[in-house]
Order: sequence, then C-alpha cells, then structure tokens
Amino acid sequence: MEWLLALVVLAVIAYLVMKRRRAAASSAAISDAHHPCPSCAVPAPRTAAQCPSCKRELPEGWAPAAGIAIPP
Ligand SMILES: [Zn+2]
Repeated sequence: MEWLLALVVLAVIAYLVMKRRRAAASSAAISDAHHPCPSCAVPAPRTAAQCPSCKRELPEGWAPAAGIAIPP
C-alpha cells in the first residue's frame, strides 16, 4: 500500500514541475517574440502586420521592444 502512496506523491511532484516549466516557457515566449494585440489582446508576433486572431491591421511600431514599460 505504501508504494501506491509513493506513486501518488511522485505524480503530484511531476505535475507541479511540468506546470511551472510550462508557465515559465510561455511567459518568456510572449515577452520576447509576441505582444498582445491592441484590439483583442491575443498575443501576436511583433513583426506581424495583421493580427492572426482578429485580423485587424497592426500599425508600424505597435509592439514596443521588450523591457519598455507602457504608461497607462
Ligand atoms: Zn487582434
């Protein structure tokens, strides 16, 4: 019965590690190569001229470089 408890504990640990890795990877990818669309807020490639989600035209310079804060 102890092996079952050990298996459950290992599964929970593996799940938490995978969850943390996935969150770190997705946030890094969004900040580096993607920026939220000004119309629909879906992350779009910084080099895109058109939003892949809402199909709105994105003006030149719509995505500021990473690390620059946008004033509210
Ligand atoms: Zn959009």
